[in-house]
Amino acid sequence: DSKSGKMSVGNSETGLAVVVGAGPVGCLAALALAKEGWKVALYEGRSAQRSVNLAISSRGLAAIYAVDPPLMERIIHDAIPMKGRMLHTTDGKTESQLYDRNGQCINSIDRGLLNEFLLQEAVDFPTIDVYFRHKLVTANFDARTLTFFSEEKNQNVDICFDLCMGTDGSYSNVRRQMMRVTRMDYQQEYIPHEYVELKIPAGTDETGQPSFLLDPNHLHIWPRHSFMLIALPNKDKTFTATLFAPTCVLEPIDTTDKAAAWFSEYFPDALRLIGEKKLLNDFEKNPRGSLISIKAMPYHYKDRCIILGDAAHSMVPFYGQGLNCGLEDVRVLINIMRSEGAIHPRKRATGEDVDEPLERAFKRYSETRHEDLVAIRDLAMNNYVEMRHSVTTPSYIFRKTVDNL
Ligand code: FAD
Repeated sequence: DSKSGKMSVGNSETGLAVVVGAGPVGCLAALALAKEGWKVALYEGRSAQRSVNLAISSRGLAAIYAVDPPLMERIIHDAIPMKGRMLHTTDGKTESQLYDRNGQCINSIDRGLLNEFLLQEAVDFPTIDVYFRHKLVTANFDARTLTFFSEEKNQNVDICFDLCMGTDGSYSNVRRQMMRVTRMDYQQEYIPHEYVELKIPAGTDETGQPSFLLDPNHLHIWPRHSFMLIALPNKDKTFTATLFAPTCVLEPIDTTDKAAAWFSEYFPDALRLIGEKKLLNDFEKNPRGSLISIKAMPYHYKDRCIILGDAAHSMVPFYGQGLNCGLEDVRVLINIMRSEGAIHPRKRATGEDVDEPLERAFKRYSETRHEDLVAIRDLAMNNYVEMRHSVTTPSYIFRKTVDNL
């Protein structure tokens, strides 16, 4: 399952960076390090990614551009610009609220596609080796070894590394391993809401071609105070809709009749667009996700390990910034590494254990990045109330900003 079929070994000649987790942040981090001269091994526990769509804003696009300008162009090409929100009331009325007077947009993109683009770039890059179905089991940072379980070999394999980047998502094992050796403050919070994905199909236009059933250049929101439905457009003229509701609201809806009655009371137009049979089937069968918000500090251990993306700062999705922020982590870290003279891998002198510029860079990243990450995590939590409730109040229109949903 590895691109090269061989296992990587630690290599202090060139400096081996091991990136754990090939989500979008891990792929961008791998590319960024490889372009700076590191030999990179990218390890991914799964064999395939789940596909949801999400909003990518200028924050995330700028981070991709910093590492790979042509890739950003391709992503924009496959994204659909959303210039505002479209609010849907229970009686079927709609109201457009533009995000920005000058036409700035956020962009809807399939997360699977975005990940695929980034992963393909990583796979094609000559100095990146990608290993699927390798799950990090444990780490000994002081000995600079990581242990992965290889599904292919059905056994553990030990990998030596110079630098480890943990981009393994909200339930990060790299973070857990770091907690054993460093005094990391850590806080996690589940919100009462769960989410379920539904699909609004494409319609057909007069010429028989597929067409959008709703305006594709808006992010659609059906705010209903304690719960809401949102929908983002896809290139195939469908919309991916996500229902966010507290478990205590969803749990009692335990029969098809109750679900039909609930959707026709609160989302009659969405019910019509999706089609009752399909909606009820998807509502019953599609997995329900929980939503977690995570705060950690510091993000690094000495000169050898750092966590980025959801592994470092998972946030509720209501500001549409989780991934954007994770991609930005890569850009910010690489800039700091450059300015500390720590960007190029170097051969440590015999007996020298710590790479001081790298340690300085990681420390500076932890200290300076934290405030911004906490701020955006808190904004996301505030927008949790805003999107399902406050967008419906008249004063709201004067308070919105362009980068959020
Ligand atoms: P992940 O995407 O979680 O990737 C982590 C990877 O690590 C996975 O591939 C996983 O298999 C792998 N891994 C895990 N453990 C191990 C291990 N032990 N060994 C090896 N590999 C491992 N963000 C936005 O910016 N805009 C949005 O509109 C938006 N909408 C969202 C809507 C919903 C419903 C949700 C839930 C999230 C949304 N987000 C959004 C957030 C966004 O999805 C995440 O912030 C983003 O996916 C984080 O990327 P990541 O690469 O850090 O982690």
